[in-house]
Amino acid sequence: MNIILIGAQGAGKGTQAQNLAHTLGVVHVSSGDLLRTVSNSGTDIGQQVRAYLDRGELVPDDLIVTLVLRRITEPDAKRSGVLLDGFPRTIAQAQTLDQGLAELGLYIDCAVYLTVPREVLLRRLSGRYICRAHQHVYNRDTNPPKVEGICDIDGSPLYQRTDDQGPAIEKRLDIFFSETFQLLDYYRSQSRLVEVDGNDSIEQVRKNLFHAIAEFELKKKYQDDNQ
Ligand code: AMP
Repeated sequence: MNIILIGAQGAGKGTQAQNLAHTLGVVHVSSGDLLRTVSNSGTDIGQQVRAYLDRGELVPDDLIVTLVLRRITEPDAKRSGVLLDGFPRTIAQAQTLDQGLAELGLYIDCAVYLTVPREVLLRRLSGRYICRAHQHVYNRDTNPPKVEGICDIDGSPLYQRTDDQGPAIEKRLDIFFSETFQLLDYYRSQSRLVEVDGNDSIEQVRKNLFHAIAEFELKKKYQDDNQ
């Protein structure tokens, strides 16, 4: 099974992606992680990627599409399927992904959209803290660390991203919603969109995601069997 997880900054996508991939038995493929690995590789291409990441800009489509397709065709991912996190971000990326997968005899089953109202996203982002060592995510109100300012998992200090502060949050959400609107329509028009309420506790959202995907799969199977 190949799935895409879509969610605004602060929707809980990062927190849920790993867990969901584990539950479904698929490989978690994060476009941001793939790019960070390349940017640390010490190669020419790595330096170019780093410049985009540092500016917070999207890297060119051909580069990210190549990286993701390459990862999807590695043996573990081919065998069990993938959960794509952070990709595609635009309709152009979604179309190129579909073409690339079709050439490999593969396809995306569904895109799962984690819905959270804008005012909740704003509140969550302004309380978000990340650990220096591995980017583990905490929240002052909903998921605080056991010891203030310290990561529970690796003991490294927590910090707040500069773009999680002030007007930068609003700007990032504006960009997300304007780009993602079209992306959602793309999958909706092909009956491949699954919307899941993300405005709840981490555990409840985890259950919501699992049930929504199971229901989608059942419906699809029923339709396929009755065609
Ligand atoms: P993330 O970890 O998803 O926040 O991504 C970190 C950075 O990687 C983004 O700010 C972009 O520069 C780049 N990036 C991640 N995914 C994509 C994508 N699908 N297309 C282009 N650039 C991306």
